[in-house]
Amino acid sequence: MDNLLKILYPPRCPACREPMEDDGSLIHPECRGRFKLIEEPRCFKCGRHISEEEKALCPECEEKKHSYQYGFPLFEYNETATNAMIDYKKNGWKSHGDFFAEEMARGLASYIKRQKPEVLVPVPITKSRYNERGFNQSEYIAYKLSEKLGIPVDSDILVRTGKAVQQKALSGKERKENRFYGIECTYEKLPYRRICLVDDVYTTGGTLNACTEALLAAGAVEVGFMTVFAAYLS
Ligand SMILES: [Zn+2]
Ligand SMILES: [Zn+2]
Repeated sequence: MDNLLKILYPPRCPACREPMEDDGSLIHPECRGRFKLIEEPRCFKCGRHISEEEKALCPECEEKKHSYQYGFPLFEYNETATNAMIDYKKNGWKSHGDFFAEEMARGLASYIKRQKPEVLVPVPITKSRYNERGFNQSEYIAYKLSEKLGIPVDSDILVRTGKAVQQKALSGKERKENRFYGIECTYEKLPYRRICLVDDVYTTGGTLNACTEALLAAGAVEVGFMTVFAAYLS
């Protein structure tokens, strides 16, 4: 079946969208440079590029005090990236996910191994989104990364209900965020202490933070993330 699919829908280059040769490569060598690696210096918390060498945190991390402890996005979210994500998520061009995972393993392995996560946890999507796409784009990448990094995946820990979570103990602000993100942990007590979340694009950090808080509430002690891309708000 896989072979038939390959003949009918050969993998396409994530940058120029032309079909790839059948040699196992996932991007044309001449197109690779259209994905821009995030340059140093990076924000200590979210991993985005920061301009002034002397500052440790980007202005947003300075202001928002997110609960995750580290973040490693790989590429800038430029126009090539935006188009590749549409092809991957909406058109279901899964070989893009293989490309993203391969690049993340190559570019981020040394950072991630230092954090020693016991497990990779993909950011969940709602059931209706799953039915519409037929797959969770972050889960696909997490499994491919797992093979390369030798860190297991647990994709049953977090669910995204898209609904309000009624928890009396939460503050007004937390309740509002919870309602917005609708992220829940399926365990009361997690069997893991150090967790690395996997997502496609880092934007405001809101979803990743909601995931982090759900995991910390269930007993995790260190939560960070890896994403393929980081976008800028301004
Ligand atoms: Zn190409
Ligand atoms: Zn930051």
